This record gives sequence, structure tokens and C-alpha cells, in this order.
Amino acid sequence: MHKLCMIGTGYVGLVSGVCFADLGNKVICVDQDKNKIDKLRKGISPIYEPALDEILKKNIRDNRIEFTSDLKAAVKKSDIIFLCVGTPNKKNSLDVNLSFIFKAVKEVIKNIDSKKIIVTKSTVPVGTGDQIEKLIKRKKAYVISNPEFLREGEAIRDFRYPDRIVIGSNDKYPGSVMRSLYQPLISKGAKFYLTNRRGAELIKYAANAFLATKISFINEIANLCEKVGVNVEDISLGIGSDNRIGSRFLRAGPAYGGSCFPKDTKGLVSTGKKYKTDLSIVNTVIKSNNLRRKLLLDRIKKISGNIKGKTIAFLGVTFKPNTDDMRDSNSLTMIPFLSKSGAHVKYYDPTGEKNEFKKVKNIKYANSIREVCKNADLIILHTEWDEFKSIDFSSLKAKKNFKVFDLRNLFDFNEMKKKKIKYSSIGRPSIN
Ligand code: NAD
Repeated sequence: MHKLCMIGTGYVGLVSGVCFADLGNKVICVDQDKNKIDKLRKGISPIYEPALDEILKKNIRDNRIEFTSDLKAAVKKSDIIFLCVGTPNKKNSLDVNLSFIFKAVKEVIKNIDSKKIIVTKSTVPVGTGDQIEKLIKRKKAYVISNPEFLREGEAIRDFRYPDRIVIGSNDKYPGSVMRSLYQPLISKGAKFYLTNRRGAELIKYAANAFLATKISFINEIANLCEKVGVNVEDISLGIGSDNRIGSRFLRAGPAYGGSCFPKDTKGLVSTGKKYKTDLSIVNTVIKSNNLRRKLLLDRIKKISGNIKGKTIAFLGVTFKPNTDDMRDSNSLTMIPFLSKSGAHVKYYDPTGEKNEFKKVKNIKYANSIREVCKNADLIILHTEWDEFKSIDFSSLKAKKNFKVFDLRNLFDFNEMKKKKIKYSSIGRPSIN
């Protein structure tokens, strides 16, 4: 049993804290947001993540996890301190804003009274661990890196069955402590890689930049498919079955979004600049992704015809299904654009109404699929939640001659053709 402190109870800190507790450890989760702590103490998760609530409640009941805003007491009672705070980009910049990290580190350092292990689980640029170490006087702590690879929406599964666990440590001892912490997962088959601290920091950025590259690649191929009458899904299958390429992250769709890829690709380019290394591929991926956002707006204009006065319905607005996370979601560019262009926008999302759209004009939240599609001229399938898979468009009370734009290729092309629905999707022919 290890005594752990998780600083930051967002998607990463909360999920890993709860899952570490579930493995039998004693976990104290700290957050500066008192509302989150109040909710968590009552066993209510402030984020939507499948299965999280039950594991949370179980571990509170069994006294393995507690929640506090008292960082001092939490640090004192713990042996391993995980930094799980946000690392967004600085405003209008490629650089990473490390202010949350250093604010937390300074608090931790003030309260260290015995030798601890400080672990950066947050995604931080290579060399951040070195900077943290410099702040720690008289070597009161080991500073190591343990980048997180979980995916929102599948976070519990990803914690329990990770492809790999990466630890970056310049000392032997903390590496062995981390191995024992993760032993229950290693015993079930997870690979455990030990490297130096800088190596682990860079692995995380390289992984995300590579995945973002794969998505942008297939998105550009999809653009070509639309012009030459080829179905992009055939291409994904045809190339993905080559083991050297692999089939995952080859689904064409909107621009990549979410809390990681957009900021981490930029963060990596910023690190390249700092070390005078041209990361031209990643740079191009960022450009390609920005272009894609514009390109999809143009496609919506083309599909809809005149936007002014049209009723446009969004099915889902989060950046992916099974999460409530809106960060860098495509809907954040699409919806304000359509509203400004004079459309009446309606949206439905299984995780509820979004604060992000509170100030947008001409927008309404609908409580159900049926309500959102009522009287719609254009229905945009934005996020591929399971509940949208079986929609029977012909039974919905949309306008006569309504159109569907499927950003995720969720619906069967031939079915839509059979039902004579005016249907556009990504990298496939349109049905007019
Ligand atoms: P988040 O914004 O959901 O959560 C961060 C939390 O930290 C917030 O609750 C905030 O109140 C708290 N916080 C900030 N400063 C604090 C301080 N000084 N003391 C106490 N609490 C503080 O962030 P997230 O999505 O969980 O991401 C955290 C890190 O993990 C980021 O570096 C991110 O890149 C990385 N990461 C995220 C994911 C993901 O899917 N979200 C996956 C892998 C890695």
C-alpha cells in the first residue's frame, strides 16, 4: 500500500486517483476548486466519465480516498505526490503555460518534511522536471516523470489495461517504487518502460504528435476521396491492415480537438524552436488541422445553401463521445459561425447544456434527439454517441427535404441512399 497525493482532480488526477485507490492504495486528492472538492466528498464526480461514479463511491466508502483543498496536510501524509494540474497553451502562443505546475510545486516544496517522490503526470515540455528539481533545495525530493496516456471516455479501462506505463527517473530508487505501485497492472500484462526523466517527458509529446499526424493524414486523404469518388473507409481498411501502419486513428472526421492534441502539437513545436530544431512535420499538421476547421465551415455552407434563416441541429457538441469535455471541440467554431451567419442553431448533447454557448445568439438547447431535429433544415452529426447510431431520420419531424451532414461517418451510406436522405459525410460521395 502506497500513500499518494494527487494535486489537481481533473480528468487525469481524479481518474488515476480513484483507480489507484481501487488498487488498495491510500489516496488524498487535492484541488484548489472548492466546488469540485465539495461534490467529490459527497461522492459526486464533477466530470462525466463512464463507470467513474461507482468506483469513486466504493473507495470513499472503504476509506481509501479522500478529498481536500488543504494541500499542506495532504503532502505531509503522502509519500508520492502526483502533479496532475492543467498545462494549456499560453494565450495566442505555441508555448506551454506552466504556471499551474509551478504554483503547485512551490506549495509542495514549502510543505515537504521528509524525502518524497514528486511525479509529473501532467504533460510538460522536456526539461520541466529539471526546472522543478532546481527549485527543491537540499534535495528533499526525487522528481520523476510518469506521463499519462488515458483517453477521456475510456479512461477507467485505459488505467486498468494500459498499453504501457512510462516512468522517467534519473535515480534508481523512485523507479523501483513506481514499479511496485504499478505492479498490479504489470502483472496483468502492462508493459513497464523505465527511461530518464527527459525521455519520458518527450515520449508523451511524440506520442500525441504522431497520433495527431495520423488523423490529419487520413483527413487530407478524405478530401481527395471526395473529389475522386472513392470511399475513404476503403482506404483506411486498405492501409490500416498493414501492421506497419496500424488501423487505429485512421478514421476521417472533423479537425482533431480535445484537451491534448491541439495543445501538445503546439507545445512540441515550441520546444523544437527553443532547441533550434525544425519540427516541420508537426508544424504542418497544426496548419492542416486549422485549415480543416475552415474547410468544414465551407462544406456546411455548401450543403446548406443560404445559411440565413435556416434551422441547423447539432447532435452532440463535445469533442468526442463519452465525455463532457468541450475543450477545442469543432462545435466551438461551427456553432458561433452559424449563429453569426443568421442560422437558428439547436443542439442536443447527452451530457447536457454547455456554458460555452451561453453567450451565443440564436441558439437553443434541446432535451432530446427528437426535439433537436424538429423543423431542422440541416442536421449535423457532430459527436458519435452510441444513442445516435440508430436514429430513424424518416420518423423525425425535420423539415421536408432536410439534409444530414455526418462528420463521423456514423451512418451507413447505402442505408441513407435507400431511404433517399440527402446525406453528406466525410471522404464519401454525397447523396443529393
Ligand atoms: P483539468 O483541467 O481537467 O484538471 C486540472 C485540475 O487541476 C483542475 O481541477 C484545477 O482546479 C486543478 N488545479 C490547478 N492548479 C492547482 C493547484 N495549484 N492546486 C490544486 N489544484 C490545482 O486537466 P486534465 O485534463 O486532467 O489534464 C491534466 C494534465 O494531464 C494536463 O497536463 C494534460 O495535458 C494531461 N493529460 C490529460 C489527458 C486528458 O485526456 N484530459 C490525458 C493525458 C494527459
